Amino acid sequence: MNARPPTSIIPIQPIASAAAAPLPVDDGATPAGDRLGRTMHDLRISVTDRCNFRCTYCMPKDVFDRDHAFLPRSELLSFEEIVRIARLFVEQGVRKIRITGGEPLLRKQLERLIEQLARLDVEITLTTNGALLAQQARKLADAGLRRVTVSLDALDDAVFQRMNDVGFPVGRVLEGIAAAADAGLGPVKVNCVVKRGVNDGEILPLARHFRGSPHILRFIEFMDVGSHNGWNLDAVLASREVIARISDAFPLDPIEPGYRGEVAERWRYRDGQGEIGVISSVTHAFCRDCTRMRLSPEGQLFTCLFADRGHDLRGTLRGGSDDAALTSLIRAIWRNRDDRYSELRGEATRAAKVEMSYIGG
Ligand code: SAM
Ligand code: SF4
Ligand code: SF4
Repeated sequence: MNARPPTSIIPIQPIASAAAAPLPVDDGATPAGDRLGRTMHDLRISVTDRCNFRCTYCMPKDVFDRDHAFLPRSELLSFEEIVRIARLFVEQGVRKIRITGGEPLLRKQLERLIEQLARLDVEITLTTNGALLAQQARKLADAGLRRVTVSLDALDDAVFQRMNDVGFPVGRVLEGIAAAADAGLGPVKVNCVVKRGVNDGEILPLARHFRGSPHILRFIEFMDVGSHNGWNLDAVLASREVIARISDAFPLDPIEPGYRGEVAERWRYRDGQGEIGVISSVTHAFCRDCTRMRLSPEGQLFTCLFADRGHDLRGTLRGGSDDAALTSLIRAIWRNRDDRYSELRGEATRAAKVEMSYIGG
């Protein structure tokens, strides 16, 4: 049985913790660069640690089982708290907000949050497993959502169900993608995490399926996130192999990134049937351009997907701090950031890392 994750699994400590590095003095200059000179551009907001899937590479069933203690509702940031924090980030230069989870569409009345975030001067996007998208796409679009990314690891139903591990049929995710496009949330980005020997046989069928559609298929290397997904290097299929396999059937040419710091490398079908992307988090780390902050469902701020601790914004917020104090805390956290886990992978071992299903991808 799993009790509430012990702090060694999801360590969450307030910034005032004795172990935290001292924060540099904030001079108030905008935009603030971190220790490696990176400016803050994106905020990912995880709105729940719950999910209706148990993807084997993210929430293995034996760990995230019936007895697993998810966050109680009272611990979650309210929509008002999220919007207040998001506004301060936007004032500090954030231009893109991605809603994630867990499965974000499980958060009740998510459209109310989208509606409020959409009033900020930023692009709002969302990453979902697509299970509930067919029902919710229209109201999310009406609320001001502009784009969605849907995770889809296989077209073959048996492979897909084995990977989501709850027997969810692939057809309903495809319906969700179609509904999103109908609601104006396209072109949809479709993300496939590739595990060698598990779903690498799905690379070509997926490429064939989405070729010629407006949607953009992206293949992600299986990452060593969290502490429970049984990661090992042998299960990683390098992006260059994905490109080689697709290119053999449908020749591809590289294209320039759309903007600096774009994590996906883009490739176009030579015959004009659209483009695909690969995200080489393991074989070609992109930390030097990483401009992201991540806010957990309970208001812990993480400066890296592989961090072992967050910084407690909720405590500061609920303690009655004003916007100026919160802003200065956010700036100080960013200025103190020197994360580059993926570049150091192999050199730096970490006993415990935050779980992907808690912090979002
Ligand atoms: N539940 C939503 C979903 O699946 O789209 C949002 C949260 S999920 C954690 C965000 C993304 O992280 C998904 O695209 C998922 O495939 C990806 N992901 C999860 N575990 C991963 C891993 N070990 N390696 C690479 N990507 C992973
Ligand atoms: Fe859920 Fe997304 Fe993790 Fe799959 S990848 S278990 S859908 S949070
Ligand atoms: Fe950014 Fe950390 Fe990923 Fe590097 S390892 S790209 S710093 S989130």
